[in-house]
Amino acid sequence: MLIGDIVKPIEEFAPLSLQESYDNAGLIVGRLDDELQGGVLLAVDVTEEVIDEAIEKGCGLIITHHPIIFHPLKRLNSASVVERCVEKAIRNNIALYACHTNLDSAPNGMSWRVGEMLGLQNMEVLQPTIEGAGFGVVGTLAEPMTEGDFLAKVKDAFSVDALRHSALLSREVRRVAICTGAGASLMKEAKASKCDVYLTADLKYNDFYTPDSHFVVVDMGHFESEFCAIAILFDILSKIFINFALHKSAQSKNPVHYFV
Ligand SMILES: [Zn+2]
Repeated sequence: MLIGDIVKPIEEFAPLSLQESYDNAGLIVGRLDDELQGGVLLAVDVTEEVIDEAIEKGCGLIITHHPIIFHPLKRLNSASVVERCVEKAIRNNIALYACHTNLDSAPNGMSWRVGEMLGLQNMEVLQPTIEGAGFGVVGTLAEPMTEGDFLAKVKDAFSVDALRHSALLSREVRRVAICTGAGASLMKEAKASKCDVYLTADLKYNDFYTPDSHFVVVDMGHFESEFCAIAILFDILSKIFINFALHKSAQSKNPVHYFV
C-alpha cells in the first residue's frame, strides 16, 4: 500500500484546498508513491519522542495535526528540534504528513468533534468559508447548565488542568460557540451567534475584556482543544483500512505544563 493511498481518504474528508494560505498541511517528508513500511502513528505534533515511538512500533508514516515544518528551513544540521525531527524521520524512512487548518475548517472537523464531546445539538459553522466549510461551530446543549457546571464538564471531558475564563455572568449556559486552537479572531462571530459561552484557546490578556458581558470566553488550552485530531484521523482511517496497524500515539503530550 502506498503512502498516497493512505492519505487519500484524509484529503477527501479535509481537502488540502481548505487549508489557510499560511499553512503547510500535506505530505512534508516522504513520497506519495512510496510503499508504506509497517504501521501508521497518529499524534498532535511531531516530536523526537513521537518519532522514537514510531520507530519502536514499526511505523513508516506519522500523521499529525500540526505540520513539523511551518517556517522555511535553510539548513538541516540538527541545531533545532524541527531540524532534528526531520533528519530523524528521513534517516529512519518515516514519512511525515500533516492535516492542519484543513481539518479545522472541514465539515465535521475539529470544532464539530469538540461540540459532539460536549453534547451540543443543531451545530452550525461559526465563520463559514466555502461549501459548508469554515471555522468554529455554535450549537445548543440539550439541557441548560450553570456556568460552573459547564466549566467543570469542559475540564473533565478534555482533561484540562486549569481553565482561564472571563468574568462569569450568573446566567445559564445553553448556547455554546467553539473554535479549537487559537480562536481570538472569531470573537465577533461568537458575539453575533448569541452564545452564552465561547470556548477556544490561546487567548491574550485583552481578549478576556472583549466579551463585554455578552458572553463568557473560556481558554481551554491549545493542546487540550486539539487532542481530538487523533480521534478524527483514527475514525477516518480505521473505517477504511484493516491491512496495517494504526496507532494513537502515547507520546503525544501537551508542551504546556501547569503548576497548580
Ligand atoms: Zn493548533
